[in-house]
Amino acid sequence: MEEFHCMNHPDRAAVHQCTRCGKPLCDECYNPEMQTCRAYCNNPATASTVEPQQPQPKNTFWQIVVALLAIVGALALLLAAICGAMIYSY
Ligand SMILES: [Zn+2]
Ligand SMILES: [Zn+2]
Repeated sequence: MEEFHCMNHPDRAAVHQCTRCGKPLCDECYNPEMQTCRAYCNNPATASTVEPQQPQPKNTFWQIVVALLAIVGALALLLAAICGAMIYSY
């Protein structure tokens, strides 16, 4: 009678099997989320728990800076126009 043992623990009986490499695995070596062995076939790139960090605050910061610069520039132009009108009105 043939009995499967974990590929990492020869003294333990295999209760799972890797869906990628087909190797027998014990509870400790089996990844239930990926249904693969933790040692070789556990690919963290396919894990959905890793959230991509987007530099959104930096973008909004620069959007605010550009908006403020535009407002300041518009006010400066308005002041220049008013001063010019006052000077030429004399
Ligand atoms: Zn595997
Ligand atoms: Zn094991």
